[in-house]
Amino acid sequence: MIRAWQDELWRLAGLLLSGLLLGALFGHVAAGLLVALGIYLAWHLYNLNRLVRWLKEGKSFQPPEASGIWDEAFERIYRLQQRNQQRKRNLHRLLKRLHKMTTALPDATVELRPGSEEIEWWNTAAARYLGFEYPRDGGQRISNLIRHPAFLEYLHSGDYEQGIEIPSPVNEGQTLRIRIVAYGGGRRLLVARDMTHVQKLERMRQDFVANVSHELRSPLTVISGYLEGLLDDEGLDARCADALRAMEGQTRRMNRLVDDLMLLARLESDEPGVGTQAVRIADLVAQVLDQARALGGDVGHRFSIDIDEALCLVGVESELYSAFSNLVFNAVRYTPAGGEIRVSWRREEDAAVFSVSDTGPGIEAHHIPRLTERFYRVDAGRSRECGGTGLGLAIVKHVLLRHQGRLEIDSEPGRGSRFSCRFPLAQVSDCTEAKALEL
Ligand code: ADP
Repeated sequence: MIRAWQDELWRLAGLLLSGLLLGALFGHVAAGLLVALGIYLAWHLYNLNRLVRWLKEGKSFQPPEASGIWDEAFERIYRLQQRNQQRKRNLHRLLKRLHKMTTALPDATVELRPGSEEIEWWNTAAARYLGFEYPRDGGQRISNLIRHPAFLEYLHSGDYEQGIEIPSPVNEGQTLRIRIVAYGGGRRLLVARDMTHVQKLERMRQDFVANVSHELRSPLTVISGYLEGLLDDEGLDARCADALRAMEGQTRRMNRLVDDLMLLARLESDEPGVGTQAVRIADLVAQVLDQARALGGDVGHRFSIDIDEALCLVGVESELYSAFSNLVFNAVRYTPAGGEIRVSWRREEDAAVFSVSDTGPGIEAHHIPRLTERFYRVDAGRSRECGGTGLGLAIVKHVLLRHQGRLEIDSEPGRGSRFSCRFPLAQVSDCTEAKALEL
C-alpha cells in the first residue's frame, strides 16, 4: 500500500476516535461518530471541488495545495499532464520536421483523400511541376487538374506497379515520371519526378549512335567497293587474295553492325505506329524463310511451318520483317546441321503468337533475362563466327514494344529454344477482310 493511503487511513481512524471520545464525553457516541464522518466527507467534497476547478482552469496551472491522499492525487495528475504535454510537443516538432522535409523534396508529392481522387495536400514541387495552387486546388479531383489520357488510365487502373511518363501540364518541354503509391486506409500518394534531364541525355546518346553509324556508312561503302574491285583481279597472288577476302568479310560484318545500330536508333526515336497497315504475316514469313534457307546453306535444317494465313497483324511491315527474320536467322545460325526449326503464327485464347522453336544448343536460365540487352551474347566467339551483331534480340524487343507485343523465351541447355512474340488480339485483323477492302 502506498504511504499516502496509510496516512489517510490513520487520519480517518484519528478522526473517528476523536468523534468517539467526544461523543462518549457528552453521552452521544453515535452522534460523535456521525459528526466525525461528516467532517471527513465535507473535506473530501471540498477537495473534489478544487480538483474539478483546477482541471477546468487549464493544465498549465500548478496543482492546488492539499494534504493527505489529495496531495498525492493532485501531484500524480499534474505529473501525468506534464508528461503528456511533453509528448505532444515532441510530436508537434516531429510533424513540423516531416512537413518541412516533404515540402523540401525535389519530387512533386500529392496526397489524395482516402478512397477518393480529391487532393488533400501537396508540396512546393507539386505546385511547380503540376501547377497546383493553394488554397484554390485543395479538395479538387486530381483528374480535373491532370487530364492527360495516359495519366487518367493509370489512375483508374489500380495497378500502380509501373509508373508512366507524361508531359507536365504547366511547363512546356518538361517530362514527368509519375508513380502512385497506395498505403494505409485507402490513401494514395502521387510522386512526380522531373525526367527532362534524363530524357535529354538519352536523346543525346541516341543521336550520337545514329550519327556515328551514319558517318561510318560512306567510308565502309568505299572500302567495300575497292575490295570487290581488287578481288575481281584474276592475277592476284593467293596470300593477297586471302587477306582481301578476310577484309571483305570484316567489312560486311561492320556493314551489318552499322545497319543494325541505325535500325535500333530509328526504332527508338520514331513515333510508334507511323505507316501502320494490316500486314499479311504468311507472305512475310515466306520471304523470311527463303532468306533463312539461303543463310543455312546446305547444312540441311528441317523446317516445319504452321501459319494461319487468314491472320493479319496491324503494324509496320518492315519492322515486323526485321523482328521475325532476326528470330528465324538466329534459329538457323545456332542450330547444328540436321536440326529442326519450327515457325508458327497462330491465334491463341488471349493473343496472336508468332513463335520460332529450334533443336539447337539451348540457353542457360541465368542468361535469358539479359538476352535482349544490346551486345549481350551467351558465347561472344560463337556469335561472331555465325555473323551475329549482338543486336538482333534488342531489335526484336523494340519492334514488339512498338506493336504492344512482348517477347517470351523458353529455353533449356540441350533441349533447344522457343522465342515467342505475343501480340494482343486488338492488334490483329482478318486478312480476308483486309483483302476485300483492297478490292
Ligand atoms: P547475335 O547477333 O549475337 O545472335 P542476338 O541479340 O540475336 O545477337 O542474340 C543474343 C544472344 O542470344 C546470342 O549471342 C546467342 O548467344 C543467344 N541466342 C539467340 N538466339 C538463340 C538460339 N536460337 N539458340 C541459342 N542461343 C541463341
